[in-house]
Order: sequence, then structure tokens, then C-alpha cells
Amino acid sequence: MNKALFLDRDGVLNELVYYADTDSRDAPRHPDDVQLRPGVRQALRTASDHGWLIFVISNQPDAAKKKTTRAALDAVHARLLDELQGAPIAEFFYCFHRSEDRCVCRKPKPFFVLEAAKKYDLDLTQSWFVGDVDTDMECGRRAGCRTALLEYEPSASKRGRERPDLVCRDLDHFVRSVVTS
Ligand SMILES: [Mg+2]
Ligand SMILES: [Zn+2]
Repeated sequence: MNKALFLDRDGVLNELVYYADTDSRDAPRHPDDVQLRPGVRQALRTASDHGWLIFVISNQPDAAKKKTTRAALDAVHARLLDELQGAPIAEFFYCFHRSEDRCVCRKPKPFFVLEAAKKYDLDLTQSWFVGDVDTDMECGRRAGCRTALLEYEPSASKRGRERPDLVCRDLDHFVRSVVTS
């Protein structure tokens, strides 16, 4: 069986972006707003070199909420891939629904983790979910993974209910703590 790192996207791989209309820092709505967080490319390579399969699991409701378009979200994804410069991510799983849509795939539901586990023969007890908000921790916990919470300042208001197995500054710190320690 394989071991996996499940990563949230916004606040883990890329920075959140300030938008005046909602007066909040949010997921990128346009490709020019995509900016990687420091150390991400190397952290992904290091984890892959140590035998971890890497997946991204991300909620992207902003097109459904009419804040942007699905085409723009697809362009954001394409820009992120450009910025990652071939970093070894096995698959991206996106939920484009809103919470009121009551879909099967939106975090904190563990749906995509379980799908990946079947498809890639993953041992979830040896796998980690890494994210910057409580719903990421709940998703990983419900899937039977270990959980690591990144203390990213812009998302601080969305943390505090869950008890992660580990708290780190960023993805680079996580990889140094778990992958290469
Ligand atoms: Mg996030
Ligand atoms: Zn969904």
C-alpha cells in the first residue's frame, strides 16, 4: 500500500488574496492572483522523493456563488500548475459546490480522500491531511488520516475547534517535521 499527503490548496500551496467586495482574503478568482507560498515547490519534491503520493483536495464554491466564473477557476488551476513547474502532484480533486448544495464531495466530507484511497491503494492510517482550517482537519480525521494544521495568519478565524495531530508554520515546516525528520 502507498502513503499519501492530502493537501488543501488555498493557504497551503498558494496565498489567499484580498478582495475589496467581500473585504476578506479568499481563494484566487483570477489567474493573475495566483502566488505560491514560500518553499512549496521544494517541499513537494522532497515529499515525493521520499515516497509519498501527493493529492490536492479543495473546495472551490466561488463560481457557484457568482463571485467568479468556472472558466476563471479553471484558469486559476492552470496558472497554479504553471507555477508549480512540474511538482509531483498525483491528482487534484475539486468540489465546485456550495454548502447548501448538499453534495457528496465538499470538505469536511472525506469523499475525495476515500476515492483516492481506492484508486491509488492508499493506507490512510499512514497518510496525512494538511490544511489551514478546521474543516480540513475534520475531513482528514473522518477519513482516518493523521492531521496537520498550518498556522496561516489570513485564515486564523477558521481554526480552533479541531485538535490536529500536529501544528506547523507552513508546508515546508510540515515536510521537515514528518517526511525528513
Ligand atoms: Mg485553505
Ligand atoms: Zn461537492
